[in-house]
Amino acid sequence: MPDRPPTREDRTAATPPDGPPLPPGSTIGVIGGGQLGRMLAIAARRLGYRIVILDPDPSCPAASVAERVIVAAYDDVAAAAELAAACDVATYELEHIDPGMVRTIDAERPIHPVEYALRMTQDRLAERRFLAGAGAPTATWREVRTLDELRASAAELGYPLRLKVAIGGYDGRSQARLARDGDLDPAFAALAGSAERDGLLLEREVEFVAECSAIVARDGRGRSVAYPLARNRHDAGILVESVAPAPPPVTAAIVSAAHELATRLATELDLVGVLTVELFVMADGSLVVNELAPRVHNSGHWTIEGAVTSQFEQHIRALVGLPLGSTDALGPTAMVNLLGSGPRRPARLGGLDRALADSAVHLHVYDKRDVFERRKMGHLTVVGDDADEALARARRALAALHWENEP
Ligand code: AMP
Repeated sequence: MPDRPPTREDRTAATPPDGPPLPPGSTIGVIGGGQLGRMLAIAARRLGYRIVILDPDPSCPAASVAERVIVAAYDDVAAAAELAAACDVATYELEHIDPGMVRTIDAERPIHPVEYALRMTQDRLAERRFLAGAGAPTATWREVRTLDELRASAAELGYPLRLKVAIGGYDGRSQARLARDGDLDPAFAALAGSAERDGLLLEREVEFVAECSAIVARDGRGRSVAYPLARNRHDAGILVESVAPAPPPVTAAIVSAAHELATRLATELDLVGVLTVELFVMADGSLVVNELAPRVHNSGHWTIEGAVTSQFEQHIRALVGLPLGSTDALGPTAMVNLLGSGPRRPARLGGLDRALADSAVHLHVYDKRDVFERRKMGHLTVVGDDADEALARARRALAALHWENEP
């Protein structure tokens, strides 16, 4: 498929969900059965839809809420055909899948995001070219394939820099911060395999005043709704906290600029479902796009209890052709991630009594069989009277939890 937005002629008859809604009782196929697949499945089941998951792990988090799990790798095109035969409409919860799977399903059933959106977002270099074409601001960047190119581009851009794999990195994995010439050789050596295969993204480090995400949902008729911005905090590349609606320094003008940008990008990607745009907010109020995720996102988990319609339900509604729900926040909401700690071992969570002693705390546990250091295991949400208070209560509850049998 060409690297341009699809036209009607590119599509199979099955593609656009702009006819009457699929009725409850229909089956939604989901590639990926991690926590996002699990929460999509829970939202789908509440509406009366059935879920078939494709995942390499038969006991993945979504397995216990799905009708069926097709156990297969994310590049197994034959298994994708099996998923297509088992569902009425399909989607995926991660970008690290073979586009051939999407193509295979698209020949049989509607699947969203479409292949173009997958291609533009699974490769960070393609994503940067797409963003440049869309006029979306990003950090100054260069494509790098060799150590010589890295040295030349680093000299041109100046430090500090970030070097990221184009394909396959997430949660801060497979990227390096470069502060001086001496950092180049070891960083390149660590990522050399990726550099040769896919290229690397080298970009200026951005001095932001806040990190936010803009989440929009778009239906098959091209109507979009936008959630209040979430303000995010990361630790070593992994999301630890979100607060929404984003408190100062995020202003109404920043929110409307972010919504306009995210809606435009969703339209250009021909997206049906949820799009997340990770943004850096600069001191002058301007926005810099860090990354796109054509899907529900960790920074939108607050919407389960904190918004009228959750991001998960919204994605399901868009897929099956139901009207989108309200994105209004029910109050200032904080979400903190429950990460794993210690070596890999069976997951047993302790401290629940104390964590839930605060009756405003909602706990989500993803039912991952094993815990290990920094693995995303669950999250907690508090809807409070103000953002700081909600965040303090969520943090307090988190601090009361622990993973047992840590040596
Ligand atoms: P990423 O894997 O690109 O989503 O990056 C993870 C986190 O690293 C981001 O959420 C930022 O906190 C930080 N980061 C990534 N790229 C940059 C950059 N160019 N400038 C400053 N911080 C960055």
